[in-house]
Amino acid sequence: MLEKVKGFNGDRVIEEFEALTKEAERVQRETLQRILEENGAAEYLQNLGLGGKTDPDSFKACVPLVTHKDLEPYIQRIADGDALPILTGRPIKSISLSSGTTQGKPKLVPFNEELEQSTMGIYRTSFAFRNRAHPIGNGKALQFIYSSKQFRTKGGLLATTATTNVYLSQSYRNTMKDIQSQCCSPEEVIFSLDYNQSLYCHLLCGLICSEEVQFVFSTFAHSIVHAFRTFEQVWEDLCCDIREGVLSSRITIPSIRSAVSRLLRPNPQLADTIYSKCVSLSSWYGLIPELWPNAKYVYGIMTGSMEPYLSKLRHYAANLPLMSADYGSSEGWIGANIDPEEPPESATFTVLPNIGYFEFIPLKERGHEQKVENCASIIRHREPEPIGLTEVNVGEEYEVIITTFAGLYRYRLGDVVKIAGFHNSTPKLQFVHRRNLILTVNIDKNTEKDLQLAVEEASKLLAVEKVEVLDFTSHVDMSTDPGHYVIFWELSSNAREEVLSNCCDCLDRAFIDAGYVGSRKVRAIGPLELRIVNSGTFHKILEHYVSLGAALNQFKTPRCVGLSNCSVLQILNSSVLKSIFSNAYC
Ligand code: AMP
Repeated sequence: MLEKVKGFNGDRVIEEFEALTKEAERVQRETLQRILEENGAAEYLQNLGLGGKTDPDSFKACVPLVTHKDLEPYIQRIADGDALPILTGRPIKSISLSSGTTQGKPKLVPFNEELEQSTMGIYRTSFAFRNRAHPIGNGKALQFIYSSKQFRTKGGLLATTATTNVYLSQSYRNTMKDIQSQCCSPEEVIFSLDYNQSLYCHLLCGLICSEEVQFVFSTFAHSIVHAFRTFEQVWEDLCCDIREGVLSSRITIPSIRSAVSRLLRPNPQLADTIYSKCVSLSSWYGLIPELWPNAKYVYGIMTGSMEPYLSKLRHYAANLPLMSADYGSSEGWIGANIDPEEPPESATFTVLPNIGYFEFIPLKERGHEQKVENCASIIRHREPEPIGLTEVNVGEEYEVIITTFAGLYRYRLGDVVKIAGFHNSTPKLQFVHRRNLILTVNIDKNTEKDLQLAVEEASKLLAVEKVEVLDFTSHVDMSTDPGHYVIFWELSSNAREEVLSNCCDCLDRAFIDAGYVGSRKVRAIGPLELRIVNSGTFHKILEHYVSLGAALNQFKTPRCVGLSNCSVLQILNSSVLKSIFSNAYC
């Protein structure tokens, strides 16, 4: 029997999910029909000559595949206040800013009630499965969530990150209550615009209700790791606040001060307990279960560009299960993790066939992809036709195309997924990488995943020295002849020159793509360069994105920094402590 939670019936949610996924093809056809009927009056669809047809064949014949760039003028008109039905039948009232990791600046995408509802659908579905595996009791969640700047566009629409759009909605509050995932911190903490103050208060509120905390969450694993790294710095101040019942003077925003002060009473006993637990920990191993003894798991997106943070997360979580959260984007949701007990490295996302219409471009050979200039645009030749949700094959890789209730039609999300299997007739996707994050000088092609594997391999050489790679990114330097790869590393402490030189050689050899190896051998690509940057560099990059409007919990370190992303490149290049060139292939 499933754990029954007030206002939420997990059995029913799972039953509905089973029914939908058994009939995925029919549900997809009906979903497309609903999307096209609801939005048939939109100028974008009107101009494509669908003439009221809503079947998949007509849709594919009339509607072109698009990227964000193609839709930008339409979205801009909406943001500027053009009240005509442009992309959707009903007017769009808010805009989401995607994290813009790739381009270096946020993209505007429409947000509407339908998107809000599908977000709740995903939250409820994955909670039903998660709660079946690890039922939680009555309590709270230690959530590291942050809103971002909200502003009005020229046309008066609310523009903010997708997560903030969701946090602002009443259905979010209701759903969090229903699925017992209410945040320990008051809303003032979530909605403060100073994420350093918010983070301190999230930690403080989490400690005040440490016995009640049922799980630890942030949207992406990076922010969970960031939170506990910060805890290592501020734990004594937190203990002091709890002992005295007085909030640290570092919290200066009046609304947060009064909201958090209301929760704070002098509690020397709790402060002593936390203090003695902290001093007894060795290198902070097992920090989460030690301080939050009733937490059942740690939850957040841990796949894709979040995988490099897993080892640190495991260090803090010790034996607590890590559960990878769902797969979606500011543009729309795609799938839920219904096998929460799988380790994050093999997490899959089962597509919900009723939240959008999904197509997949087969990517059988990487050779289909032409050289990608400056990590930004996607240009291909001889590209295969996209296929439908139920037509994909297990083991093969595809680029995801979404059609949503929020005005995106045949939109290339830019993600590559692999089909891990099927749940009933719906595929389970494994996230592989972002399609356009590719290191390339000439015929070589290395993806975000290849970079991650190379860094993992080389960082093993550092582990024996007890040094960690805190974060990393890459760049293709074409200012030299021939061009070469540059990998930036921020380390937890200094490493010997000889070790770094070995790491650099290892990185160079770890890119096993035939184009790279061949080019390196004939010196058509120069030796790989490892640049060690000083402590805090990646934090500066995070702050740069936050200043552009990104929310901390939506932040993803860009894994490839192109010339177009000049601000980030400048932060990196001005922070280089030393640079080492590879001796591999000499
Ligand atoms: P955003 O631009 O902030 O909306 O981020 C959306 C992107 O984050 C997606 O297109 C993916 O590249 C990535 N992403 C979202 N969910 C996951 C996941 N579960 N695993 C890996 N990457 C993800």
